[in-house]
Parts: sequence; structure tokens; C-alpha cells
Amino acid sequence: MESLAAKALAELTSAEIERAVAGKTLIWPIGGIEQHGPHLPLNVDSLIPKALSHRLAAIIDGFYLPVQPLSVRSLPQSGGGLIFPGTIYIDGGTFTRYLQRTLASLCRLPFKQLVIINGHYENEAFIFEAIDELSGNGAFGERAVTAFSWWSLVPDAWIAANLPDFPGWHAEHAGITETSLMLHLHPDLVRSERPDHPSPPMAGIYRLPLDGDSASTRGVLSRTSGSSATLGKQLFDLVTEQMIALVERRQNDK
Ligand SMILES: [Zn+2]
Repeated sequence: MESLAAKALAELTSAEIERAVAGKTLIWPIGGIEQHGPHLPLNVDSLIPKALSHRLAAIIDGFYLPVQPLSVRSLPQSGGGLIFPGTIYIDGGTFTRYLQRTLASLCRLPFKQLVIINGHYENEAFIFEAIDELSGNGAFGERAVTAFSWWSLVPDAWIAANLPDFPGWHAEHAGITETSLMLHLHPDLVRSERPDHPSPPMAGIYRLPLDGDSASTRGVLSRTSGSSATLGKQLFDLVTEQMIALVERRQNDK
């Protein structure tokens, strides 16, 4: 179904860009640098939305933006937290303001639709807030904006059929879905260990003092055994289908 090569917005020239993006969809992947257990690299949350943005750009003839590499903080019940080295983050207020300023300048271009694909769990509310506030100021005009975290597009039926002991997306951090997607997209970056955490944390609870061992196994919040490139490809293709359903109609609206 992919008919065109994905196009990078940043590789256009200033003289070309307005004509090139007029009436088109721009796609911005937003990730993070966060610990992902002993088996995955720090940039998982950037690599997955980046790959999805390239795929979507190719299919709908849109343009992808460079991945936004930094995120808001990792929390113990959804990302393992800051006790693990390697997580580089900014605070939510700075992140929201950064997104708003970037989007405001992007809005000077005559694109038709903006799609934001998030890959880091804790980013979501801040991305939505940035968009909502800008929208209230009229920055987007009549243009369509669609923002989502990639996991929100995975149907419950697929989860029930493929992940019988699914712990909830907050606890899928460095777990079977991210490990499988990475085995599909970047097998060279996945180490051989497959740690499991026997009791994934419950969503929506924060407790002090922190007890890292009860929340995770070396930064992994659920299980990784059973991960495979096959499962990763299935998931990637499924999310791609769902993305297209979400944005194509708006792209084609005249
Ligand atoms: Zn992640």
C-alpha cells in the first residue's frame, strides 16, 4: 500500500517549502530519551513514532518532521522513573511551552493537516494541553489537527487475542509490545535478555517512598518474554492501518 518514498520536511529548501506543503499533511513524531530496561536502547520512545511517521508520510504523500527527541519525566509506575540512569527529561511546563512555540511557528506554513504521533507515555497530557491552548488562540484556523499516542490505536480485540495477560499500557513500558516493535524495526539495537516483572504496577497510583523493586524488574514494568519480530510487525501494520483511517479522510476533504 506504500507507493511513495517518505518525504522529510527539513530537506526542502526555503524557496520550495510553501508550495510543497500547501494542502498537505505534516507529521511530527514526539519521543523521549528514557531507560527501557537492560535490553532496549534509551531512544525506543523516539524510534517507534519516527518509524510510524515515515510510514504514514509515504502512504498519504505527506511530510514528516524531525523527531522531537526529549520528553517529560519518566514516572515509576509508567516508565520506571528517574532512579535508572540515562533518562534525560524536561519539566512539563517547559515541554508544553516548547511545543506551543514550535507549533505556532509551524502554523505559518500553508499545510492542511497536522498529525502528532507520541511515543512516550507521560508526554500525552502535555501535548494535548499545548494543542488545546493554541487552538483556543486560533493558531490552527480551519486546519485539522490529530494527535495520539501510538498505543491508543491498538484495538482491544487485538490485545485480547495476542496479549492475554496484558497489564495496561502504563505498564507496557519496555514490555512485550515495545520489545516486539523494536525487534521488527531495529533488531540490531535489542539485547538478548528478556526480563519479566511478575506484578505490573496499577495505573493511576503514585506512592512515596518509592520502592523501585516492587514497581519494576530493572526498569521493565511487565513481561518481555514472548516478544518477537513477528508480533512487532503485526502491531506496526495494525497501528499503520488505524492511523490511515484516522487521518486519510481529513487529508482528502476538499
Ligand atoms: Zn517506551
